[in-house]
Amino acid sequence: MLLKELREKVIEIALKAQKERLIPLTMGNFSARDRRTGYICITPSGMEYDKLTAEDIVILDIEGNILDGERKPSIEQPLHCAVYRRRKDVFGISHTHSVFATAWAACNESIPVVVAELAALIGGPVECAIYKPMGSLELAETAAIRLRDRHAILLANHGVLAVGHDIDSAFANSVVVEEGAKIAFYARQIGVMRLIPEEECRSLRKISLEKYGQKNDIL
Ligand SMILES: [Zn+2]
Repeated sequence: MLLKELREKVIEIALKAQKERLIPLTMGNFSARDRRTGYICITPSGMEYDKLTAEDIVILDIEGNILDGERKPSIEQPLHCAVYRRRKDVFGISHTHSVFATAWAACNESIPVVVAELAALIGGPVECAIYKPMGSLELAETAAIRLRDRHAILLANHGVLAVGHDIDSAFANSVVVEEGAKIAFYARQIGVMRLIPEEECRSLRKISLEKYGQKNDIL
């Protein structure tokens, strides 16, 4: 089977996201890009994650053409492909509807940098791309452009998209965004949020890229 291991990895991450309560039911979608072929393994549309097998994962080229798999790919495949086309450094994408991040997206408001992890791992505030219908080409282009060199973006009135140098780091970034969204929400109830200044954000990002974690373990 084509890219069996990567297909299984995509299922593993989808199940982890469900366990972390980042996605209700069959919502959200996940993909990984193979470094050798450039092919994209993506979750199928509307199937329960705990029933997925490697055969259910669909293989696409970067334009979204189906290369292998019997299932219909995720409705957000244009969004995944648009991000992969613009970002040569991205090899994994995790799209979730996690509650706190989506609440900020419901207000069309960016998640401010209230904790160091957002600066270090996402690259700054989690900005919010303007509303476009789910699954549309407009959503794909708008969000991919607004993402710039960051590692996550909110989709207005919809959810959050996190990317990474592999699907593990994309998933980890989904968790970081949700935690940041939660802390920012509570901080706002307590009082006036004190944001990490832009210059400090850049320095934290640099530290994370150069020094954080074990060898090749940078998120
Ligand atoms: Zn969605």
